[in-house]
Amino acid sequence: MPVAAQNELNVYESAEARFEIAAERLGLEQGLYHYMKYPEREITVYIPVAFDNGHVEIFTGYRVLHSSVRGPGKGGVRFAPDVSINEVRALAAWMTWKCAVVNIPFGGAKGGVICDPDKLSKAELERLTRRYTAQLADWFGPERDVPAPDIGTNEQTMAWIMDTYAMHVRQATTAVVTGKPLDLGGSQGRREATGRGLMLCCNKAVAQLRMKRENCRVIVQGFGNVGYHASLLLHEAGYKIIGVADIHGGLYNEKGHDIGKLYDWVYAQHKPLPEFPGGGEKVSSQEILFRPCDILVPAATENQITAQNAHRVDCRILCEGANGPTTSHADQVIEQKGIFVIPDILGNAGGVTVSYFEWVQDRQGFFWRESEVNERLQDVMERSFDQVVEYAEVHGVNNRIAAYIVAIDRVARALKLRGFYA
Ligand code: GLU
Repeated sequence: MPVAAQNELNVYESAEARFEIAAERLGLEQGLYHYMKYPEREITVYIPVAFDNGHVEIFTGYRVLHSSVRGPGKGGVRFAPDVSINEVRALAAWMTWKCAVVNIPFGGAKGGVICDPDKLSKAELERLTRRYTAQLADWFGPERDVPAPDIGTNEQTMAWIMDTYAMHVRQATTAVVTGKPLDLGGSQGRREATGRGLMLCCNKAVAQLRMKRENCRVIVQGFGNVGYHASLLLHEAGYKIIGVADIHGGLYNEKGHDIGKLYDWVYAQHKPLPEFPGGGEKVSSQEILFRPCDILVPAATENQITAQNAHRVDCRILCEGANGPTTSHADQVIEQKGIFVIPDILGNAGGVTVSYFEWVQDRQGFFWRESEVNERLQDVMERSFDQVVEYAEVHGVNNRIAAYIVAIDRVARALKLRGFYA
């Protein structure tokens, strides 16, 4: 995916820009402002990995805890070649605000390793994951910091993290990580949760704007865990998915895509998405963002909608599946166009919400039915959506700033009650 132009803010500055606007609107006191602006800790680890051929290489990994004010740190671990400390720092702060928007008792954290998981064998990835976990074992824990999947990591990665941690602390500790396989204390519905949360937000937005689902044309950028499940669930809910894209390119089809068949092509047959036979017009994964549609769901990576290209976005609802797909410089353009924004910290919060359910189930040793998980998720998403929209209306701010204000206010209240330990 293309990254933002050089003069565009980096993601951390983008995250900070929104925090600052919201903090000012909220009249946040100086001390609280400074406390919340900076992370609590940042750890860099250098991870030696022996390749299958015996050759050893050192990888760089990070774990940033932005806040533990409302509960243990929570957030994914990203394996990607362009991971940087600035990115992990931004993603950790976004996790704090995301958990606070949906009011689950977690702080925010994020991890990352600079590597290309597609170029490593399964055994190499396992060694990398285990050594990363071992180096961070003192900081992880169900009451300390709880990792989860993100770009480049999956249920298997979480199983390795869980096992490595368990070996170090000498007891099975399923709640140390979420997004695990079902056989290891994972939760029903976790895999689909981010996509389901996006679908639930779209339903709410469509009802509010008095649009009809069956008339809504949707474009989804990204076909990984988030993009695929969002496309499938939106498709099943009656929306017409006219555009899909992954890292190899996109497909535009006015008649609508069959998401099940596309999934089979990409994941069972391991073929490139744009080569899907009869799939429609080939469009680049960036150009797909600018095709006219009713709902645009960027669900790939950050910095996709920038000050340079935001004027070309042609949708009624922008529902953010990725973290930070829109830069802060693009916010104004999107607002001027009258686009209804479901900001990332609300739209994609379904994933961490079901992570919370997983953590609760692991700690209780009592597991819920999928229908129970989905019902509770719907409740959380709809309530959070209503709060953000109501706040935006009452205070005359856009949805994104409203979401930040709801979140910052919750963290600030907890922080005031705790006070500053000296
Ligand atoms: N990586 C996901 C996110 O960015 C999930 C985090 C989690 O479940 O802890 O929201």
